[in-house]
Amino acid sequence: MNRPGAIEINLRHIRDRIVQASSPGQGVTLVAVSKTIPETAIEAAIEAGQRVFGENRVQEAKGKWPPMRERHSDLTLHLIGPLQTNKAADAVGLFDCIESLDRPKLARALSGEMRRQGRQPRLLVQVNTGLEPQKAGVEPDRVDPFLTQCRDEFGLSIAGVMCIPPAEEDPVPHFRVLRAIAERNRLAILSMGMSGDFERAIGEGATHVRIGSAIFGDRP
Ligand SMILES: *Cc1c(COP(=O)(O)O)cnc(C)c1O
Repeated sequence: MNRPGAIEINLRHIRDRIVQASSPGQGVTLVAVSKTIPETAIEAAIEAGQRVFGENRVQEAKGKWPPMRERHSDLTLHLIGPLQTNKAADAVGLFDCIESLDRPKLARALSGEMRRQGRQPRLLVQVNTGLEPQKAGVEPDRVDPFLTQCRDEFGLSIAGVMCIPPAEEDPVPHFRVLRAIAERNRLAILSMGMSGDFERAIGEGATHVRIGSAIFGDRP
């Protein structure tokens, strides 16, 4: 685990690399992935100016983030991991952006909870660009009808798409598939790129990169 000084240095370095990789006018948001990372290290990142964070488990985020949000009013929290329907209420209450919408049942649950709670987290559809059976996400061929269903049947406005390319493959073709989906559906947000490939993702048009280990070190 890095000491707080290291987190600040890592963040500065990542921000520089993001700027270097970006084209003029391409605003790229750094989502600092803090799954499994203890509060002291997250506080170091906040101290270093980071405001947008990503967690992959509702249960973990529920324990960690409410106290942190009390101390800092301007944080933005993204859910980047799979979401079970029975956690939809917690997710709508906790997160500002849910990146893992991938099925009608979940769309229906989120729509109901958003109405009940009067909260409107941003929604991204996760796309399984690698057609990996063990991975969440809508298959690329099914994304367009799913977006239509989200809008027409559940009254949801979808802001963008997210993908996690297969670990052992060149990610660029996957980034291109995601970008094509976003362009033809006129979606503004492209969440793609992690510690090992974020510069290539930015080169392919990413608006949000999700970076964990390059900021916080290897996860425990
Ligand atoms: C863990 C995780 C990341 C960050 O991965 P790093 O390689 O540590 O940068 C990004 N996206 C998702 C969905 C993750 O689960």
